[in-house]
Amino acid sequence: MKRNKIALVVIFLLVAAGSFAQNLKPLKGISIMLDPGHGGTDPGAVGPTGLKESAVNLRVARYLRDLLRADGADVMMTREGDTSLSLGERVILADKHRPDLFVSIHHNASLKPVLKNRGEIYYNAIDHGLSRIVGRNMTDELIKLGFGDESIIVPAGFFVLRNNPSSSILTEGSYISIPAVEKGLKTGKALTNQAEALRRAIKESFKDGILRINMVIPEEPLKIDTSYFNLIFSANKNISRVHARLTPEKDMGFAFDKLPGVENVYRFYNTAPMVSGNYELQMTFTSTDGSYSARTRVKLQVSLPFAKSIIKPTAPFIAEGFKGRFPVEITLFDEQGKLNARSVPASLIYGETSSTQAVTAANGKTTLYLDLTGNEKQNVETSLIIDKKVVAKTDIAVKVPSRRYILGRLISSDGNGIQGARIKYAINSTTITGPDGHFYCDYPFIYGNVKLSIQPPPGYKTQDYWVRTAGELVTLPLVKLTPISAGLLGKRVAIMAPMSFDNLIRKLVKPLMAAGAEIVRLNLPENQRNPEYQAVLEANLQQNLDLIISFKREVAGSISVRHYHRGGKGKRLADALSFSLAAEQPPVIVKTAAGSDYEIGHTGATAVVISFPEQMPPDYPEKLIAHLARVLQTGY
Ligand SMILES: [Zn+2]
Repeated sequence: MKRNKIALVVIFLLVAAGSFAQNLKPLKGISIMLDPGHGGTDPGAVGPTGLKESAVNLRVARYLRDLLRADGADVMMTREGDTSLSLGERVILADKHRPDLFVSIHHNASLKPVLKNRGEIYYNAIDHGLSRIVGRNMTDELIKLGFGDESIIVPAGFFVLRNNPSSSILTEGSYISIPAVEKGLKTGKALTNQAEALRRAIKESFKDGILRINMVIPEEPLKIDTSYFNLIFSANKNISRVHARLTPEKDMGFAFDKLPGVENVYRFYNTAPMVSGNYELQMTFTSTDGSYSARTRVKLQVSLPFAKSIIKPTAPFIAEGFKGRFPVEITLFDEQGKLNARSVPASLIYGETSSTQAVTAANGKTTLYLDLTGNEKQNVETSLIIDKKVVAKTDIAVKVPSRRYILGRLISSDGNGIQGARIKYAINSTTITGPDGHFYCDYPFIYGNVKLSIQPPPGYKTQDYWVRTAGELVTLPLVKLTPISAGLLGKRVAIMAPMSFDNLIRKLVKPLMAAGAEIVRLNLPENQRNPEYQAVLEANLQQNLDLIISFKREVAGSISVRHYHRGGKGKRLADALSFSLAAEQPPVIVKTAAGSDYEIGHTGATAVVISFPEQMPPDYPEKLIAHLARVLQTGY
């Protein structure tokens, strides 16, 4: 009895000591990576008297590091001194250490006079769990510590956020470009204050502890060879919700359930079949007590077996005596009957003993060639073999053609085949080029030479081409097409504009699309305070944009074209446009300037902002659009 009592007291003391220690170290067990922005050769923004953003970022990060360590957190820094570090290197560090939270620390600058200072917190837009919670708390704490009521939180897709495996935040604590703020940032008080605000926000975010997910992934990427998969994971709490997102996006459903008999062990699975490809699965988890997990990112490599596939000869038959490369189009399917986009070694066996070895294209459609000797007299039996299995088979007839026989190919200047061109020939006959630019047509003997009228897909000039048969039955023309604009062909151009600009924008979109550009329309809502934020977020999620053109209406006196303050392609475009418009009679005057618009310099793409004043001659916008289209087409 007595003994039991003592044991109880001891246990009580141990528990009390344990919780006491926990209160002193509220962030024990939480790992945080701090990333002071810029550094070394890159000073970042520079204040009016020369204070470097890189130095301020580092000082805030050091204060924050010490505060968080005092709270028990395990803190790492991407840089400890004034050293150069690329964005990619920062992400690699995050990937190596996989912290629970990654915080990139920056300070803002504006070329426009900003009257009020404010903090701006960006959270990883694809993480609606921990990143968003931390971001919201940081915004609140910045306001509480006097960083202006204007402090805002914005979902964003900056490089260090988008490519980060951890929950991630980018802070722009204040505007270093405001003289009074710059002065404050030199004294230290503003730095410690900011560090304190960020610390409080982080503590608040982890007050219920972190929801820890333990998912055992035996290999990275995880190799999957069936259309359905299961991921087993355990958690330290009860899971109420799993938010999953697959990139590249597929029409895909996911679900999870609890495994019976074991505590907090779950199964996560897909509810619609997967197709072959490389994916990244991002998951955030929520527990029943409302705490969020860090992001879990799993790379998946889905390689489904090949099922019955198709070999389609480019011509309906082989002309007897044909000597040379005869193209066939291979379309590969999986067992669900969907395109099986896998790159694998394949062999095409044809005739008695011939074969072609090749690797299938990653998009599921591949052009392979039979090397014909001209001696083929019967059907050419053709089969495609992958993994020692025949996945497709066809017989290609050999015949003496009763009409003239053309097996041609359309290519671009880089030698790639051009698909989808419409070719008119003879009288009212039409053919369309296949995936690798190959086409077949035939026409009666009574015609000798024949004209091909080529209507190419967007991006290339229409062209007439004379096929000179020189009495031959079979001709193999190779036709090279000229691009309308080498600078626009295949480029991705985003156009940001309010809906009211729609008619005008259409006049720009048309010639750009005709020149082979891909257009991404990003709407700027007119009634919102910062419509650019949403548009820039979408631009960032789009990735790989080559150019952003943003249209606005402002009170200013003349048309203004603004570009990135360090010049580059945006400035060249602005200057070329202004030069071109000055040649109008009477000249249209356009002011070009470095701009502080949010969409400039927040996407990684070249961006220009074109703003129209409220008052201007009514034909100016259309003139500008016409000149802009021409400048974009001819290059700048
Ligand atoms: Zn910065």
